Amino acid sequence: MSLLWTSEAMIEAMNGRPVGKLPEGITGISIDTRTLRQGEAFFAIKGDALDGHDYATAAVAAGAALLVVAEAKLPALGKLKAPMIVVDDVLAAMTRLGIASRERSHAQIIAVTGSVGKTTTKEALRHVLSEVGKVHASVASFNNHWGVPLTLARMPADADYGVFEIGMNHADEIRPLVKMVRPHVALITLIAPAHLGHFKNLQEIATAKGEIFEGLVPGGYALLNRDDKHFKLLETLAREAGVEHIKSFGENARADYRLTKLKLHGECSCMTARLAGEEVVAKIGAPGRHIVQNVLAVLGAAHLTGADMAKVTLALASLRPESGRGARHTLEVAKGTFTMIDESYNANPASMRAAIELLAAATPAGKGRRIAVLGDMLELGKQAPKLHAELSSVIVANHINMVFLGGPEMAALKAAMPVEFHAEYRQSVEELQPQLLNTIRAGDVIMIKSSKGTGFSQIVKTLLQKY
Ligand code: ATP
Repeated sequence: MSLLWTSEAMIEAMNGRPVGKLPEGITGISIDTRTLRQGEAFFAIKGDALDGHDYATAAVAAGAALLVVAEAKLPALGKLKAPMIVVDDVLAAMTRLGIASRERSHAQIIAVTGSVGKTTTKEALRHVLSEVGKVHASVASFNNHWGVPLTLARMPADADYGVFEIGMNHADEIRPLVKMVRPHVALITLIAPAHLGHFKNLQEIATAKGEIFEGLVPGGYALLNRDDKHFKLLETLAREAGVEHIKSFGENARADYRLTKLKLHGECSCMTARLAGEEVVAKIGAPGRHIVQNVLAVLGAAHLTGADMAKVTLALASLRPESGRGARHTLEVAKGTFTMIDESYNANPASMRAAIELLAAATPAGKGRRIAVLGDMLELGKQAPKLHAELSSVIVANHINMVFLGGPEMAALKAAMPVEFHAEYRQSVEELQPQLLNTIRAGDVIMIKSSKGTGFSQIVKTLLQKY
């Protein structure tokens, strides 16, 4: 396996001190001994709850080629006989390695932020760009102060594309991260109510997301959602940051990457779009209008990096929903099958709306009952009751037949549902689940969605085990 870094280059980049006989180099970087592979370097990062230094022995047992540890922790590592690079602070050293990685790279770099759709868009970019080059992209949602440097440090020197997800919970978080990433394209998916805790309103969120423009390479592109209410604000922020090239995607007639025709199906979509003046027709292998929005952004970013668009567009057909974000399961029940759409990864008002629309698209009228199983959307601050209640009109407009609502916040939605609507409400998942199990019958399409940490993914597990 080829080397990701030589030990020598790591020492230089991280300003580290070698201890023991170092290998020629490492094949990868790990911060978690459960997933560490032989030949990788283990970085003993200190998190909120755990300290990687406590796992140094486990890392050696798992086949780590070398350990990166903090000087202050060296005495505590005692007699551990392993090659090490000793540094002042392990996270700071990993960040320095990330910066060195960016410096040596010739890849086209795309940075993705937004309130929803970061991971979906990042994975779609990984998927389509793999058709035209070697792609390096963030793992899962590794998008914060350790996830971004880790992803950078892991980027192979010969990558053609680097796709980086950048997230945030408060202002000033994106700026230092994007300055490390130095993208050629800075993409913002959508501004929507999510992680409202540290923000007064959506403008504040948009402004914080706009920090992404500050890291663009000279001549780089800002790629914005023209259908987003905050487009103008983001455009202004991009200009203020000195960005000359601002491009947009969406359904809006003025978008550079524009949807012109769309047919939504249960398991895919077919679209026609104009991409910088050229018409393309594509099948998208993952369903939902929100996925089409992300795909327009993906096509825009791919185009701006100079990718072969014929290959990119063709690859959209084999796109699939991400786990917990629209993955579809056909399960057996007495006298037939029912469909479960697993949206249990996370929820906010924008993705709830998208998922309810997806449920409608997945169930042609008269072909089965549309059942939405919805749990609390967390981190919405004072606006939570209103934002929950507002889903009522989305549910009615999409002709959902039944809703099962669980969790304290969902009480506001239950109260807002029309009285004649079949809405079951329970305080907790445990109380709600038996109600749902008693209801399922052949032909049903059931969509389960809730914020992380509400326990709703348990319902998905139960259905997969039971049917
Ligand atoms: P998080 O910050 O919670 O990790 P994220 O920004 O990475 O989220 P995803 O993980 O891609 O977003 O998606 C979260 C949820 O939002 C999923 O249910 C997904 O289907 C939905 N979603 C994805 N793209 C969009 C979009 N453009 N509009 C609305 N919902 C979307």
